[in-house]
Amino acid sequence: MNLKEWCKIDEALYTAETNEQYLQFAGHDYDKKSIENLSKMKYLVSEIFVRSFSQPRILLLSSIENISDAMTKPLELKLHELRGSKIKSKDFKYGGKQVSWNTWRQFNSSESDDKKRRLVFDDFVKKTKYIAPVINLRFKKIRKIYSDLSGKVDHDQNGSFNPLDGYLISEKISQDRLKKLVSEMGARARTSFSSDLNSGTKLIGKEPEYYDDFYFFRNRIFQNMERYFTKINPVVTVKRTLGSIGFDFSKIHFDTDDRPNKYPSPICFFVKIPDDIRVLYKSESPYFNLSSCYHETGHAIHASSIKSELNYWEKYKFSMGIAEIFSILIESLTRNPSYLKDIGITNEKVLSELVWRNKFMELFFVVFYAANSLMKMEYWNRDLSIYEASRLYEKLIKKYMGLDVPGEYWMLHHILPEAIMYVPSYMIAAIRAAELERYLSNRFSDKWWKEPSAGKKIREIMAKGERINLEEFSKLDQNIFLKEICSS
Ligand SMILES: [Zn+2]
Repeated sequence: MNLKEWCKIDEALYTAETNEQYLQFAGHDYDKKSIENLSKMKYLVSEIFVRSFSQPRILLLSSIENISDAMTKPLELKLHELRGSKIKSKDFKYGGKQVSWNTWRQFNSSESDDKKRRLVFDDFVKKTKYIAPVINLRFKKIRKIYSDLSGKVDHDQNGSFNPLDGYLISEKISQDRLKKLVSEMGARARTSFSSDLNSGTKLIGKEPEYYDDFYFFRNRIFQNMERYFTKINPVVTVKRTLGSIGFDFSKIHFDTDDRPNKYPSPICFFVKIPDDIRVLYKSESPYFNLSSCYHETGHAIHASSIKSELNYWEKYKFSMGIAEIFSILIESLTRNPSYLKDIGITNEKVLSELVWRNKFMELFFVVFYAANSLMKMEYWNRDLSIYEASRLYEKLIKKYMGLDVPGEYWMLHHILPEAIMYVPSYMIAAIRAAELERYLSNRFSDKWWKEPSAGKKIREIMAKGERINLEEFSKLDQNIFLKEICSS
């Protein structure tokens, strides 16, 4: 088998598997057996790659990732199932059914009695004991797979190759640089975050407490502004804006229905790049719908703008630190008063409220993700147990956020207990998105979303897939991003 043949097979399997995952996350009937079988097939194909090829390195890394993914698939499905069946409240309901992990955010967003939210939070933290063994087993297995394949990869690391090393290679960043970047960002954001958090009653109408998590804030903080957004249809509006600067939506499908088993967090599936892209999201609250819909649409237009004639790995194997640039860029429109005016939000008071509340959420993002990233890096580096990881998490959350949150909370997050790393990619991408925004403003107009030439430029940058020319707009300089959000 030559490389070209290998790529064809791998792409076909990827497409079939992503389609099944889409059905699962959408809350439709899906074929569990098919997911398992496709995963097995992908495993075999990845094994062929690892045995027969060593280049391109990016495919070697993704093959190792696929091997570990496939070998731990039953545990991943088990985790999903336990989150729905065991992380469930006996006492409280949402939408007529017992609150479970899947409806937790919706419950938090709509429940006005803080005591009830606290009870559910405490209950769910205790119930992480049901998922902890599965998370532990899965991560242990992943570590072992990477270590066993150490010999296949050239890496500068002494000793065995771990999942964090793979992540750093694919993000093209050294461990020292990433650690420095993340901790510096966290440290710089901490002061502004704490002083804003202390004015909690202005933000969420109550003193902030440990059970008021990032996702609760994200919904609650905009609650008084929600009514200004009820008339805006996010899908229609984002399509109109991006359509006007030349983006084509014929290959992007949006699913906005609410189904009980639908995944609570918005998500975009690249079923086939660039021809079949699907966005899922369900209603949490009108302003959140708007920003999350823009975020996922950013992913969707990125994937659909990639040139189909590129090599397979160049089309599909871009890192998250690249993927999230465009989602964050498009999402940032929903924080931009000048853009919001364009879509009919004209009340000046509302706009200025939105600006500072959004700045607070970005500070929250930085301190929360700094803690998340550093915990995950240490987890892989020092081979921590779940208990140790939880204690470290508690410490880091206290350090960067100043709150006493039970460390087990990380297992209730939607990404932390599943992904090898992923989390710091958001921070890298946020820096690059701020740099890209500035680049577009300087080169075209402050209202770049109205300039077809800016749209053309963005598509030109996106079109190269993994071969993206980051230097064109980014030095990975955190100052632009941080200056926008830190008051001091
Ligand atoms: Zn994203």
